[in-house]
Amino acid sequence: MQPHKLVWFRNDLRTGDNHALYHACQNSAEHGVIAVAAITPTQWQMQDEAKCRVQFWLANLEKLKQDLAALNIPLRIIHAETNQELPEQLLNLAQQFNVRSLYFNCEYPEYEQKRDQQVEHLFRQQGIRCHTYDSDVVLPPGSVLNQQGFAYKVFTPFGKAWRQLYLQQPSTPLPSPAALPKRQDDVVIKSASYTENGSENYCDKVPVDIGYKNQMGANWNSAFWPAGADDAHRLLQQFVHERSHNYKQLRDFPAKPGTSSLSPYLSVGVLSTRQCIAAMQAYSEDPDWFYSQWVTELIWRDFYRHLLVAFPGMNRWQPFKPEIEAKISWQYDEKRFRAWCDGETGFDIVDAGMKQLHETGWMHNRVRMISASFLTKLLRQDWRLGARFFMQHLIDGDFASNLGGWQWSASVGADAAPYFRIFSPMRQTDRFDPKAEYISRWLPQSQDGPLFAQNSGRPAPVIDYSLERNRSIDEYKNSSG
Ligand code: FAD
Repeated sequence: MQPHKLVWFRNDLRTGDNHALYHACQNSAEHGVIAVAAITPTQWQMQDEAKCRVQFWLANLEKLKQDLAALNIPLRIIHAETNQELPEQLLNLAQQFNVRSLYFNCEYPEYEQKRDQQVEHLFRQQGIRCHTYDSDVVLPPGSVLNQQGFAYKVFTPFGKAWRQLYLQQPSTPLPSPAALPKRQDDVVIKSASYTENGSENYCDKVPVDIGYKNQMGANWNSAFWPAGADDAHRLLQQFVHERSHNYKQLRDFPAKPGTSSLSPYLSVGVLSTRQCIAAMQAYSEDPDWFYSQWVTELIWRDFYRHLLVAFPGMNRWQPFKPEIEAKISWQYDEKRFRAWCDGETGFDIVDAGMKQLHETGWMHNRVRMISASFLTKLLRQDWRLGARFFMQHLIDGDFASNLGGWQWSASVGADAAPYFRIFSPMRQTDRFDPKAEYISRWLPQSQDGPLFAQNSGRPAPVIDYSLERNRSIDEYKNSSG
């Protein structure tokens, strides 16, 4: 068997701007290149992956397989039932194909880092070299530091330093590698069977077929988020061309298509952040595009990844500010939590958001903030409950961004909302959904009635807003000093 290089795909399901793939394909005259991805139901279960996210990931994997085939790179899909099996299975594959080096892009949560260290250790023991890359971020964790050489804990100076560094050395996306020559001794790679009766149309059966038990929440909507890089780039260009100039004005209005809705593609790595920035550079009509609000949001994505690496306690669900959380007594009230989960709190904007989440697997950012603030500050439930629930339902579920968003909302995170910022659902509705367009889209019952429950067949409010607001402020006030 001729020697091979092996590329391991995870949440980087793209051929363009994929550092691991690109470098594996350089100088490969002597080597063939093969690719692998692993179906890991136990890991998905443990990490609360939403059903729609798994479906979306698998559908994109299928597209990636086609894109790789066009480059003469076969993709092998392996099925690792337990996490312990994964390194051994990868090694078996490597030995079967005489693999001399392994290439992959880093993932930053601690669990993934440990998994990768295990794999690297095992491979190195066998004399197989490992090459890793920071393809999931624009600037690698540890590269954006303050003057004392420490990681930033606050976003604004991080963003400023990030932009300065980027301008010194713009990080442009890598192209897809050129197709490799088709080899005479072509390897025939047979993937593990994970489809019922060998059917290729597995997306709607995925959770059953692969033994994945999370049956909650929405199915992936392939009309709204079609799988594959071609469609992802089409949607990216469309957003940049047609809507990015209005982003700052419209992004807080959940009834309007003001944001890009590209987060599912970024989450499974069909798009990279660099490709989004490059699209702005190429297609935006705004001469100041680099300082635009949309680029700022993309920098937030990097920020949360940098934090996760610099402050590993976050991986274990520790708050960034434990001194604040120590004095808060979360209520752990099942009735309140259930009402929030089911979108039955009687506060329309909150319930509409939860209905959007249940039906589509996605929620508008403004409503994520309102909903998270409501659960933590008004229902006074532990932010971890909400964060887990979001991960179990979001198609764009992302450990770092979700953790960051929840800690921010509960005022226990880096650069958190000040404790007295408690979103009033009524005031937020007045400001961002004044004609109740968003609310009536997701709560048709409230279409004809006023915004509040009593008159409209909606549940009665689960709490007394003013009472809980005052309690919460008192508690946070004591905890901060
Ligand atoms: P756009 O506004 O078009 O922004 C473009 C991209 O920038 C997004 O796709 C996303 O990748 C990134 N981005 C935007 N805002 C943020 C942010 N605040 N933090 C980090 N990255 C950001 N985002 C996730 O991708 N996954 C999550 O699991 C997630 N959980 C969240 C939980 C809470 C409680 C909150 C308040 C926010 C969460 N976010 C999460 C951030 C944000 O809500 C989503 O990224 C955004 O709504 C996605 O919609 P979009 O693609 O239209 O974003």
